[in-house]
Amino acid sequence: MSRRRLDSRSIAAGLLGDIQTQISTDPLDSLYEITGELGRGKFAVVKRCVEKATGKVFAAKFLKKRRRGRDCRAEVVHEMAVLEVARNNPRVVNLHVAYETDHDIVLLMEYAAGGEIFDHCVSDELLPESQITRLIRQTLEGVHHLHQCGVVHLDLKPQNILLTNLSPLGDIKLVDFGLARRLGTAGELREILGTPEYVAPEILNYEPITTATDLWSVGVIAYMLVTGESPFAGDNKQETFLNVSQVNVDFSRETFSLVSELAVDFIRKLLVKVPEDRPSAADCMTHPWLWQHYPGTESLPPTPRTARERSGGGKWAAPPEDLEDKENFLDSPHAKRFRFREEDMPTFGDADH
Ligand code: ADP
Ligand code: MG
Repeated sequence: MSRRRLDSRSIAAGLLGDIQTQISTDPLDSLYEITGELGRGKFAVVKRCVEKATGKVFAAKFLKKRRRGRDCRAEVVHEMAVLEVARNNPRVVNLHVAYETDHDIVLLMEYAAGGEIFDHCVSDELLPESQITRLIRQTLEGVHHLHQCGVVHLDLKPQNILLTNLSPLGDIKLVDFGLARRLGTAGELREILGTPEYVAPEILNYEPITTATDLWSVGVIAYMLVTGESPFAGDNKQETFLNVSQVNVDFSRETFSLVSELAVDFIRKLLVKVPEDRPSAADCMTHPWLWQHYPGTESLPPTPRTARERSGGGKWAAPPEDLEDKENFLDSPHAKRFRFREEDMPTFGDADH
């Protein structure tokens, strides 16, 4: 069992140090067969992994213990600790076991076979709104759960929201808790975090981070799913930052020609500069867009992308240059509540249709 006291630097960075999951030093390949790559970031690669004894498939995230020449084991342990805090929720990927090799700690997680919802933002055919609202409801359930557990994700983006199945479209799983932090961890923000296109204005402005920061990202994700466009992506990082901090976002009829008014209303309420003015995850769940009925549309084919495309072509940023310095600090968790409507709306438990 590997338990480790955090050093003062890690504590200052708001990292969690207590884990229950055993980190085994047994050779991983004696029990599992690694069968291919599922994805990768700057300090991690995720591989498909089959348990030899059972044939069960897992996703194995290989996280480097040393990054930029320094020991980052505490960051990896933190990611495990966050997964443990948030575990036992169907919208959060489940951590099964962990292994340690010379260079990596390997997290064996539940396998999400349907890929990233990102693929549905850049596909030639966008999803029908009935499916998008279902995915957004599930995302909000996950985000609500994290916030109830006192955790903010801080890296919500279409690449970190996976699907259990591609066809038929499955349920979502939140992954990648490397930037997540416990609410109320005091401190200052030392570096701009996450990917520029998805970060909230308060992060760029070095202002306090709250649960509302995750809700901004939900707005960006909803925008991308309905339009196939990234709302703030500029031609370079500076332009993107400027777009975010000025909340320069296109709600033109052209971009939203095939998108319902309610969808626009939902997104507009989340993409607001002042975090306190954004609805919470629970508030969002009461928005009528998410409960709109689309009779008979579940079986409709997806919307051809061309029909929703903005004139002038796709608006996608170049790959982020520096997305992985996972040092971050939090401040007050108190995001003010905002209600859409007072009328009775379904509660969380009913959301999974
Ligand atoms: P990073 O911290 O490098 O961004 P992630 O945890 O986001 O690492 O994983 C990188 C990619 O690997 C994801 O965007 C996804 O495509 C894939 N991936 C991660 N976890 C899983 C999983 N549990 N099942 C299937 N694919 C996964
Ligand atoms: Mg990721």
